[in-house]
Amino acid sequence: MRVFSHQRLGQIPQLVRHAPHLMESISLVARVLPFKVNDYVVNKLIDWTDVPNDPIFRLTFPQAQMLDAEDLEQLAYCVRNEGGEQQLNALIQRVRDGMNPHPAHQQLNAPSLDGQLLQGVQHKYAQTVLFFPSHGQTCHSYCTFCFRWPQFIGDKSLKFASNDGEQLHRYLARHPEVTDVLFTGGDPMVMTAAHLTRYLEPFLQPALSHVTTIRIGTKALSYWPYRFVSDTDTPQLMALLRRLVDSGKNVALMAHLNHWRELTTPVAEEAVSALQQLGIVIRAQGPVLRHINDSASTWKRNWEQQVRLGIVPYYMFVERDTGPQDYFQVPLARALSIYNEAIESVSGLAKTARGPSMSAGPGKVEVSGTLDLQGQRYFLLKFIQARDTRWLGKPFLARYSETACWLDQLQPPQGQSEFFFEAQYRRFVEQGAPQGTQALVRGEA
Ligand SMILES: *Cc1c(COP(=O)(O)O)cnc(C)c1O
Ligand code: SF4
Repeated sequence: MRVFSHQRLGQIPQLVRHAPHLMESISLVARVLPFKVNDYVVNKLIDWTDVPNDPIFRLTFPQAQMLDAEDLEQLAYCVRNEGGEQQLNALIQRVRDGMNPHPAHQQLNAPSLDGQLLQGVQHKYAQTVLFFPSHGQTCHSYCTFCFRWPQFIGDKSLKFASNDGEQLHRYLARHPEVTDVLFTGGDPMVMTAAHLTRYLEPFLQPALSHVTTIRIGTKALSYWPYRFVSDTDTPQLMALLRRLVDSGKNVALMAHLNHWRELTTPVAEEAVSALQQLGIVIRAQGPVLRHINDSASTWKRNWEQQVRLGIVPYYMFVERDTGPQDYFQVPLARALSIYNEAIESVSGLAKTARGPSMSAGPGKVEVSGTLDLQGQRYFLLKFIQARDTRWLGKPFLARYSETACWLDQLQPPQGQSEFFFEAQYRRFVEQGAPQGTQALVRGEA
């Protein structure tokens, strides 16, 4: 694998040939938003004849429009002015700080073991524990919309990754209610088979027999399918996964997919079937993103392709309020109509896709539809995961808005001062946050 970052833009021949005029702005924006892309994405996924509109190009190369025009201008000025290093760094920091690096509600999910907070573990919903192995805190390529971007710039306050699989295993052994463990990152599939073995093999022990599902959140299927086909330690990786499946575990690969174009290469299809031959179920999830996949026809095609490949459509997410959100943000009303229009046009096998769903502090909130009642229009919302399970099964209304992009921008119906769960959620935030933890509420890679 060859990896390019903003210092090596000149080494990407396609960029030099097809988009020389974009190199300067890419390299400028990359000072704020880290950028990393591998040769597979550059050579096989991006359609260079369609740059800058190509969705995979926009997913991996930072674009001028991702920054405020004024910030971009200042950045260019600072870079041109030699000796302005300090000023430049301050500017970069300010622009980053303005991008809400710590989205949604936080610090509530870090569990403890024997009075000690667990690094890199989150336990928000009873059945499922999230684990962020320290060796998996990077990705094969970075996505420009990624809400994990602070960890790629080495934000010290985000030390949440765990080195210690042993602690995870001890924690899980004491929590018989947990049926699912979700390995996430970054991307756990950047880890060597040897590291993965250390984390995953203990699940074969009787003490962890209640953990029946091992989920692995990854973008490797689309950004580095060779992981499952021809990396040097692929045989060990596949043997490990086979041992888990043969022992009776449900191994689920949560494939992070944004666009059907990501799975059109022969090697991607080969990776899909190699996993399926082991008995692994692949599920697809990803956010709706403006400029990338904000059309019903794209989602229809995503889901049809997934079903054809034996991949189960799982979640359509709403993009989080972080990073270059103005560039990617799709209002809830629009996300809902994209979802509805796409779902209407696919067979029942693709209707397993749920969404649009916001992974917010109180839980995963689905925008289920709109309702017109007594001359007023509402969103019908429902928790599909909730911090308090009693919130599930209680659909609720919010005033319809064309522009709201996130739960906190929604208003309760007239006459209600807040949503039914808010008072209790505030109590969670006030009392529930363990001291000293920097864990963020994260979804999955
Ligand atoms: C989404 C999510 C899960 C998994 O939820 P499922 O609905 O079971 O896929 C677990 N923990 C957190 C923090 C999540 O955001
Ligand atoms: S964590 Fe997921 S969205 Fe973020 S850069 Fe990695 S693959 Fe992309």
